Amino acid sequence: MCIFCDIAAGKIPSNTLYEDDQVIAFFDINPTSYGHCLVVPKQHCESFLDCPADVRDHVFEVAQKLANRLCDVLHCDGMNVLTNINEAAGQSVMHFHVHLIPRYADNDTLT
Ligand code: 5GP
Ligand code: ZN
Repeated sequence: MCIFCDIAAGKIPSNTLYEDDQVIAFFDINPTSYGHCLVVPKQHCESFLDCPADVRDHVFEVAQKLANRLCDVLHCDGMNVLTNINEAAGQSVMHFHVHLIPRYADNDTLT
């Protein structure tokens, strides 16, 4: 069982902000900052290392568009765009995903 496969299949609800036939993006259930979201391929792969090139490219294309949109809407001052690979690097869900973590110069909290 894979939680992100279940979210992608609509079996588990998520706060979705973008979806197409290959990718879904939703807000993180335990956000690091206001607006923290995840861009996830619908096809299961464990991490960036084993993601097919066409899927990888589309994930990052969507990530770039959403990063721009989040900057516009949230008026954040910066953003961390990252993917963790394997437990040693902090990966807890073994289904490839890209984090978009908006950052705020004055108030980097969840309020
Ligand atoms: P990782 O640690 O693997 O890089 O990131 C996994 C992220 O998925 C974490 O930030 C965690 O809060 C988030 N997450 C785990 N389970 C769920 C869930 O069921 N729904 C949502 N929206 N996010 C989740
Ligand atoms: Zn999966």
